[in-house]
This record gives sequence, C-alpha cells and structure tokens, in this order.
Amino acid sequence: ITQMYGTNLAFYSKAIGDRLSEEQQITAEMNQALLNGEFVVYYQPKYDLETEKLIGAESLVRWKHPKRGFLPPDTFVPLFEQNGFITQLDIFVWKTVCGQMREWLDSGLPCVPVSINLSRVDIYNPQLPEIIIDILNQQQLKPEYIQLEITETAYMDNPKQLIATVDRLKQYGFQIDMDDFGSGYSSLNMLNEVPVDTLKLDMRFLRGAQTTSRGGNILFFIMNLAKWLEVTVVAEGIETREQMLYLRGLGCNYGQGYYFAKPMPSDDYQHLLSIQTAN
Ligand code: C2E
Ligand code: CA
Ligand code: CA
Ligand code: CA
Repeated sequence: ITQMYGTNLAFYSKAIGDRLSEEQQITAEMNQALLNGEFVVYYQPKYDLETEKLIGAESLVRWKHPKRGFLPPDTFVPLFEQNGFITQLDIFVWKTVCGQMREWLDSGLPCVPVSINLSRVDIYNPQLPEIIIDILNQQQLKPEYIQLEITETAYMDNPKQLIATVDRLKQYGFQIDMDDFGSGYSSLNMLNEVPVDTLKLDMRFLRGAQTTSRGGNILFFIMNLAKWLEVTVVAEGIETREQMLYLRGLGCNYGQGYYFAKPMPSDDYQHLLSIQTAN
C-alpha cells in the first residue's frame, strides 16, 4: 500500500509539475505573442431566426501558436484572467474589431453590430468605459456598432461592481448582452438588478430541452420571461435545423451556432457581409 501511495503521489506531483511548467511557459510567451501578431480575431455570425438574416457577429479570439498550433480561448483565457494579461489581450481584440469595422464601413459594406467579450476582470477596471470609448473614437465609430457581452457569472463575483459598470456603459449608449445566461446560480436576481438588453442563452438549455420535458418547460419559461421584461434572446450553440425551428417556435429572436456558421477569419466574414441581401 505504501508503495502504491508513493507511486500515486509521484504521479500526482508530476501532473501538477507539468501543468505549472506549461502555465509558466505560456506566461513567459504571451507578451511576445501579442507583439508577433499570434492572436487573431474570428467572427461568428448571429442570425434572426424568423428571417434567417444576418443581424450581428461575435468576436472570438484565437492563438496561432507557432509550436502548439491553433489554440482555442478556453486554453488561455482563464490563465490570463489569473495573471492579469487578459486586460491587454481584450484591448487588443477591441482595437482589432473597431479597426476592421472602420475598414468595412469605408468600403461601403452593410455592417451589422459586432459584439466583444468583456472578461470578469475587465469589469473591475474603473477606466473601462473610457477605454472602450477611446478606441471607438479613434475609429470614429458610434457605440451602436459595438455590443458588449458580459458573462453572468461576473455577477456572482461582485453584484454591486457589475451593476455599477453596466450602468455606466449604458450611459455611453452601449447595448449589453448577458452572456451564458442561466449558467450562474442567481440568474433571476441578476435579471432583476442588472439592466441588460439581451440574454445570451447558455447552450446547455438547448441541450436540456431536448432531453427532458422539464428542460423544454424551462426554456419556454425563459422565453416568456424575456418577452415580459422586453429583453431580446440570442440562443447559442444551435447546431441543427431542428433546433433552430424549435427555438423559433418558442419565440426566440436570434441565434448563433454551427448550424448557421462556425467562427471564421475576418476575410470570410467580410465576404459574408458583402453577399448579404439588402433588407
Ligand atoms: P462564449 O462567449 O460563450 O462564446 C461562445 C463559444 O461557443 C465559442 O467558443 C464558440 O466557438 C462556441 N460555439 C459557437 N457555436 C457553437 C455550436 O453550435 N456548438 C458548439 N459546441 N459550440 C459553439 P470559443 O470561441 O472557443 O470561446 C470560448 C470562450 O472564450 C467564450 O465563450 C468566451 O467566454 C471566451 N472568449 C473568447 N474570445 C474572447 C475574448 O476576446 N475575450 C475574452 N475575455 N474572452 C473571450
Ligand atoms: Ca460571448
Ligand atoms: Ca456564451
Ligand atoms: Ca462561455
């Protein structure tokens, strides 16, 4: 038994060691990676479920790592939230999006709003609204072109701070999307206290609605609640036509997911903008 315990312990500490050194390595590389242009912004379109027309897009960051390959944000965003680098990375993403938007507008493309993700860390930055406004001003963009996605779990971290930040952002004219709605433990309370414009319904609701009738009832309830509160709903993670039709039937306004399109490089999204039919 002692021997087994010893082996497990050795195995355990090796696993921690591996993770630590990987985190240390990423931390050592991140600043240079930003300078080298290894972080790229992808766009995932959002659609009106009734008309199936393009109504917006979400910007999503990726890391084109020279050795590790193409890294999804889940592999580095949580780490950057811990070590603080997310502040710089998010500012880079916002600048990239606004620069792109200015180019698209200048070339006469029919632009729809792009949403940017705010980290839970960004919420604590007292300069946040001014930083975003400065970036917009540099590109002479109005706040209508940029929507802000804030994850619901940031409410649990610090409700007062979140309410204050959202209030200020709204005074500047930004639309606020509550991301991952329903993934936290106090969704209804959040909804009562934070004046959001849109709920982005967490994917697991859609998955849940398909597996149990109770799940379907909850989804039905959320759609009606949103209607009463006059907030719009974007359903995330729509992968099939069946799911799209189901959500449309429940009165869900908008959707995003692989059924419509996967997150894509800016050139592809630009092409998509250019082939839109006029409304
Ligand atoms: P999120 O904001 O909830 O973004 C939606 C995620 O769902 C994206 O993952 C997207 O690729 C994925 N997705 C979209 N449609 C489907 C679908 O039909 N099926 C499935 N299975 N997945 C779908 P992604 O791009 O890996 O991003 C993961 C998370 O990383 C995001 O979750 C967001 O919280 C964070 N993130 C991404 N970009 C940024 C950024 O620029 N700044 C910050 N702070 N966080 C970011
Ligand atoms: Ca998001
Ligand atoms: Ca989400
Ligand atoms: Ca998420």
